Amino acid sequence: MSSTTNTTLATLLAIVTLLSAAPSALLSALPSALLSADEKHLSVYSPVAIYTLPVLDRAGREYIGLLELLEPLGRVRAESEGRRWRLRYNAVDAEFIAGKTRARIGGRDFDFMAPFLLENSRGLVPLSSLSGFLPRFLGTSVNFRESARRLFVGDVGVQISFELDTGNPPRLALNFTAPVNPTISTEPGKLRMVFKRDPVISPGSQSISFDNKVITHAAYSENNGDAELEVAANEPLIASFTNSRRTIVVSAVPQGTPANGAPGVVAPGPQTPPQSPTQTPPPEPPVVHRVLAVVDPAHGGEERGAALTDKLAEKDVTLGFARLLRHELDLRGFAVILLRDGDITSGLDQRAAAANTARAGIYISLHAVAQGSGARVYTALLPVEGTSKGVFHAWNAAQEPSLPISRIVSAAIVNEMQKREFPVRASSASLRPLNNVFMPAVAVELAPGPDGLADLTSANYQQRAASAIANAVLSVRDRLGVQQ
Ligand SMILES: [Zn+2]
Repeated sequence: MSSTTNTTLATLLAIVTLLSAAPSALLSALPSALLSADEKHLSVYSPVAIYTLPVLDRAGREYIGLLELLEPLGRVRAESEGRRWRLRYNAVDAEFIAGKTRARIGGRDFDFMAPFLLENSRGLVPLSSLSGFLPRFLGTSVNFRESARRLFVGDVGVQISFELDTGNPPRLALNFTAPVNPTISTEPGKLRMVFKRDPVISPGSQSISFDNKVITHAAYSENNGDAELEVAANEPLIASFTNSRRTIVVSAVPQGTPANGAPGVVAPGPQTPPQSPTQTPPPEPPVVHRVLAVVDPAHGGEERGAALTDKLAEKDVTLGFARLLRHELDLRGFAVILLRDGDITSGLDQRAAAANTARAGIYISLHAVAQGSGARVYTALLPVEGTSKGVFHAWNAAQEPSLPISRIVSAAIVNEMQKREFPVRASSASLRPLNNVFMPAVAVELAPGPDGLADLTSANYQQRAASAIANAVLSVRDRLGVQQ
């Protein structure tokens, strides 16, 4: 077993290099699910879902698709008939007429600030009316920060507080009331955290000054669906997460530590920064600021998997599916490694070791079958012996501590697929290498849909499954990682 470790590391490094070097041709070929940075966005934060939608400009006003806005929050359907558009959200009926400002929602009239628009059966409502009409559908208050295009449904705001330790080097702790996952970047004199998916709210004042020569101030701003926190200093800064991602510690780069290529992340390597004898806080382990998902397209190379048709091998379906899943996870803020991004042969032990070496937050293996319909989600079925005595058993039951979380991930996937009316079943199976990975692990087997075998190669069909998996993984993000 030890002999495979070096090969695995080399393979993994090669994959990482390949991923960072290759321009992503796949992304440009996808439908316009990607939101480009300069497009206008609305971010929605609610207890059931956090998502971002494109904002459209029509006749000098900002509009949003109402169906897309409500869909993640509940059961919704809509139909159009001529200029009329009817929508039902949970038990609330609404009727809109193209070109009119007056609509009927839940049996009562509502006057929008601009006319309702109907484009290819898609109903658009003016953004400026969101806080007025949404409570009629949701039955709960909303807080819409219109200039920032951020919508808070219910009590979901995450608050920030600051704590400065003026030791040498000084450390600024940013404490949040819930785990956060910002994108962190550095530039001379600044460390910038962009919160795309966290319902972070203003710390009260837009700018906070610190009585410190090194870390001088912090500024909060929000714009186009994002919140941003910038810390200014007279020395280069680094950031690390602690306290289950509820705290970000920003500190000056300890002298002698070379600036690292990965912005904002503590460099691996010398882990203990030089500390003055009076300084008590222990150094925190380096944590990459995004949860890493390892996606494993099962089979590959010599090993073709099942013959789905005369010409179609499982290994090819799993690869395409895995690439779509990578894209979906990436959109939701995960870092993703594909265990193969080509037609490569790779053993089961090698795959498990690669996930373990990368210390991924989650491992997802993808399979495909010609029989059945929809999808099946597997978690590991551990050997009866349970916890181990020897190396062999340990390897076979590596999954054991994470299995409860794996089952939660599996249930979340089933739930998301059912929302999309995807037939789905969950089972346990001794399906290697699920047993051998330390982190939460599931396998998803894709079966044909209503269009039969053609679905297995349909990007549209795979995309629905991939987005369900990615939503599910996001919904349990805070529980991922190696369980102790
Ligand atoms: Zn398979």
